[in-house]
Amino acid sequence: MSLATLSLTQASRLLQRGEISSRELTRAALDSIAAQNGRLNAFLFVDEPGALKQADAADESRKRKAAPSPLSGIPLAVKDVLTVAGMPCTCGSKILENYIPPFTATAVKKLQEAGMVVLGKTNTDEFAMGSSTENSAYGVTRNPWDLSRVPGGSSGGSAAAVAARMACAALGSDTGGSVRQPASFCGVTGLKPTYGRVSRYGLVAYGSSLDSVGAFGRSAQDVAAIFSAMQGSDPLDATAQNLPAGEISLEAPDNLQGVRIGVPKEYFIDGIQPAVEKKIREAIALFEQLGAEIIEISLPHTEYALPVYYLIAPAEASANLARFDGVRYGPRAEAETMWDVFTKTRGEKFGDEVQRRIMLGTYALSAGYYDAFYGQAQKVRTLIKRDFEQAFSLVDAIACPVAPTTAFPIGAHGDDPLAMYLEDVFTLPANLAGVPGLAFPVGFDENQLPVGMQLMGPHFAEAALLRLAHAYQQATEWHLAILPPL
Ligand code: GLN
Repeated sequence: MSLATLSLTQASRLLQRGEISSRELTRAALDSIAAQNGRLNAFLFVDEPGALKQADAADESRKRKAAPSPLSGIPLAVKDVLTVAGMPCTCGSKILENYIPPFTATAVKKLQEAGMVVLGKTNTDEFAMGSSTENSAYGVTRNPWDLSRVPGGSSGGSAAAVAARMACAALGSDTGGSVRQPASFCGVTGLKPTYGRVSRYGLVAYGSSLDSVGAFGRSAQDVAAIFSAMQGSDPLDATAQNLPAGEISLEAPDNLQGVRIGVPKEYFIDGIQPAVEKKIREAIALFEQLGAEIIEISLPHTEYALPVYYLIAPAEASANLARFDGVRYGPRAEAETMWDVFTKTRGEKFGDEVQRRIMLGTYALSAGYYDAFYGQAQKVRTLIKRDFEQAFSLVDAIACPVAPTTAFPIGAHGDDPLAMYLEDVFTLPANLAGVPGLAFPVGFDENQLPVGMQLMGPHFAEAALLRLAHAYQQATEWHLAILPPL
């Protein structure tokens, strides 16, 4: 058995007992990448010498009994929208081809300080805009459960890497579902923290009021370990909250007596794949068996989340992406005048979806339309936030599907952006409200594709969500389902 099959929690235990070394563990991850990446295209960049060097340093510190944390020596994959000093950061775009940032994202830095070994950078939809990783300029990532299907997106490379045992854990970003939906499609556990719980410094900005850095692992326990090490305040991001960094204890309660779980009726709509609804209902029934009280609730403005998101996110993106002009970063197109350099570089190097969003966003912000589109969307966003405040006065967590379907075939939404946007209906509301969301596997559909459940909670209730998922994972084995041997 390859050490690559170990979960983060198992690997951490064996490392601490001295039964394996970080070099062996890292070697196994690198071998797994070498064996599979040609097929999956989950990694865009692998830093083999750097990873082995970090692994040796982790082994060294453990020998001296100076390991900085239980995460020390564990391999991590990083989505290519987060900077790691000295490694390329392309954001899945030609406009940042060969760009090597001189600084490291705070979330990554905190994990490096905890001793984690950064393996490399994973594939993403260009600038995290998409739900399938098909919008990457460097080719689609394939779903390890079925190579003809997408891994979800935009953090598809990270989700596939964890599912295919190329890394114990991975970082992603979630602006509208980009951690939760690929976690669901690939059968792993993924957390989108509360807005402002993890520093965004070094995360290339997409929709700044929605962006959050999240984590993937094979269980709630794995994700909890990463989350507690990477969250917290940061002098480089004024929105990062200063809350107690305390370890998240995952003692699964004997039962969930007293926990109230809300089931929003707006999340079980026509068009949802029957197998998805069935598995979610079964998981809800299991929570009830474990002692939780299940309460039907309503989030009445859910149907507006999609149009609101697809105004606010492109509006913010159009401003954020203005910095990519061929002068400050990446390659530059040759032209006579400065303006021609800007337009030619952007026209040639940005992909279709990014250009579509820049146009949508610029339009929504333009004089005469600002109030009608952007201003109006902000008002409705407040109503969506209020829905959640109201719901969380009645329940401790909300249970619902992550996405209406399981992983779809590559090319299924080829020239229909709207069909692609509809994949996000159940994940966008959490970003608009800033609340945390957790995705974890609850079974398979008729094609043996993983189905994911989503738990959402009040601001800063990550620990409560992780504890609930942990209780579920103690009682079930879906999260242990693994792919055929390497
Ligand atoms: N799929 C959504 C979009 O295309 C969300 C992406 C994300 O969370 N980064 O914008």
